[in-house]
Amino acid sequence: MQTVQTVTGEIPAEELGLTLIHEHFFSSDEAVSTQWPHVRDREQEHRLAIESAEAVKAHGVKTVVEPTAMLLGRDVQASRQLAEETGLQIILCTGIYTYDYLPQFLLNRDADFIASLFVHDIEEGIQKTDVKAAFIKCAADEPGMTANIEKIHRAAARASLATGAPIMAHTRPASGTGPLQVEIFLEEGVSPDKIQMAHTGDTDDLDYIEGLLDKGVYIGMDRYGLDLFLPTSQRNATVIELLNRGYGERMFLSQDFDIPIGNGLDWYPPEVIEQLMAAGAATNWSMTFVFEEVLPALREAGMTDAQRDTMLIENPKRWLSGA
Ligand SMILES: [Zn+2]
Repeated sequence: MQTVQTVTGEIPAEELGLTLIHEHFFSSDEAVSTQWPHVRDREQEHRLAIESAEAVKAHGVKTVVEPTAMLLGRDVQASRQLAEETGLQIILCTGIYTYDYLPQFLLNRDADFIASLFVHDIEEGIQKTDVKAAFIKCAADEPGMTANIEKIHRAAARASLATGAPIMAHTRPASGTGPLQVEIFLEEGVSPDKIQMAHTGDTDDLDYIEGLLDKGVYIGMDRYGLDLFLPTSQRNATVIELLNRGYGERMFLSQDFDIPIGNGLDWYPPEVIEQLMAAGAATNWSMTFVFEEVLPALREAGMTDAQRDTMLIENPKRWLSGA
């Protein structure tokens, strides 16, 4: 029987059910949180996380995959408490979320050492708990494949090979990072069906997307609501075209939602976030936007119920468990 690790224990893959593959209940700067904890309101963060968890449950979601890695404030206790209080199945990762920066500790150690940290989280548990990471996260963005980013990608690949855990890679289509990232994983010997290229849906360049799909990897159409990267209508048209071309078994639908004010996403002061929202950066962004607006529009454009279930139930199960 194939199983998957959640923050409340190992479950049969069959029990994952309706799954959002990429959402954040918590994401904050962990160094600032440790040094200046007074800038955070943990009780409010918890309340807002509960609100989003209850909202997705009302749409039948059983599982949320949360790729909050190192440098995004992964907090296994907070995630476990949220899962216990709501009954939602939450799946955590190991890995590092950076576009280039690394602390000295990791700057001066090699890919194999970093891989051993990832393996520890997958086999022993995260942050001295028995909660095990189910997948490995890494990222490449505007700076491209720098030496640090390459080292983390090789570490992610080696940890995947050692444990069988799948990899989710944050990509930036506008900088063409996807093919460079896939190349490293494949060069290290990772099977393409273990690889998910997150944020591929930020582009409607079908040649770029098919270039990735030709390698056999999964792609995340996972930033629905983030209009600043691509508006919903273009995201939908891309998904429909890829369904028509037979790629339903390779796509995930999600929102990469971060609770933007009063919770994790602390990259900007609240007033800047309010300005961005007012300017239309993410007017309808939420953890339920896919259910409220996207699925009805995709159905209207020809998506079948079977295709919906493939993207929201079968693909997460297959990517996470190999089943
Ligand atoms: Zn994310």
